[in-house]
Amino acid sequence: MVATGNRGKLAEFSAILRGSGAEVIPLPVGATQPEESGATLAENALIKAEACHQAYGGLAVADDSGLFVDALGGAPGVYSARYAGEAADDAANRELLLAELAEVPEGLRGAEFRCVLCLVDGEDEPRYFQGVVRGSIAFAERGSNGFGYDPLFVPEEGDGRTFAEMEPSEKDAISHRGRAIARLGAAIGAAIGGGRVTGLDHVQVAGPPGCEQAMRAFYSGLLGLEEIAKPPPLVPRGGLWFRLGARQLHVGIEDDFVPARKAHPAVRVAGLAALREHLAAAGVKVIEDSLLEPYGVARFYADDPAGNRVEFVEDFGAPPG
Ligand code: IMP
Repeated sequence: MVATGNRGKLAEFSAILRGSGAEVIPLPVGATQPEESGATLAENALIKAEACHQAYGGLAVADDSGLFVDALGGAPGVYSARYAGEAADDAANRELLLAELAEVPEGLRGAEFRCVLCLVDGEDEPRYFQGVVRGSIAFAERGSNGFGYDPLFVPEEGDGRTFAEMEPSEKDAISHRGRAIARLGAAIGAAIGGGRVTGLDHVQVAGPPGCEQAMRAFYSGLLGLEEIAKPPPLVPRGGLWFRLGARQLHVGIEDDFVPARKAHPAVRVAGLAALREHLAAAGVKVIEDSLLEPYGVARFYADDPAGNRVEFVEDFGAPPG
């Protein structure tokens, strides 16, 4: 059960957790939400998740998020929703933020959205998953999508548009909440399978035409994966196959993707978890990774066993449709 009354957040949870084997249940209509009296995002997420678990039992998840602005020492942070006062709306909060930053020049307007998710099951210790997106605060509002501070937030990984000028899917792919939910999804997938990712017979990635030798060097040479024969009848054409734990890893050329698999979120979330496991086993130290939903692209930064820093991108398939 996801402890939120926000339909947009619920939709994100449902989409990203779909492949994990978990069914997302909304809070019952009329459910009361506890007061968010914590001093940190994690405390508030815990308060909400515990209240939900107490009231309804089962596996409860809650999120808390906020905007942390460098020039304001991290404000409004955990108080983002009530920055301009208890009764303040999003517009009033944005107006106050612009006023506070009026004298702050370009280059010093850095900020980040942070999201912390808390998972409570009543047996184990609560578990936390974090997502962060860095960016800067614009000098004026732009765009009408999203909510909260979106019209003022320009993500570093974008093309200069604010979150409110992006399509929801573009924002979700790099947003703090999208990232935290993707991490939660991988953990739930692993937990449901008793420590292993389930519901997946093979992991499929693809590269551009002519990539086979580079892929072979990477998967076989660097990661030490055993190359195996193509297991019929799964994939129509071409590509390389490797053993990846109990599964197979198919390295295809872009044209080789099977559309049905391409659209399946399970392949993305579970595939990322499986690759992460394998990288750890191969002695590749992952410094940072992110699953950029809904594009299904995972980006890793890692140190290989020889100490070389590498960045690589895995494509677990495009979004449905
Ligand atoms: P909460 O997690 O619902 O308590 O949200 C805290 C506040 O942070 C929201 O009311 C927004 O003001 C701000 N916030 C959190 N996430 C976002 C986002 O994705 N876009 C814009 N504002 C956000």
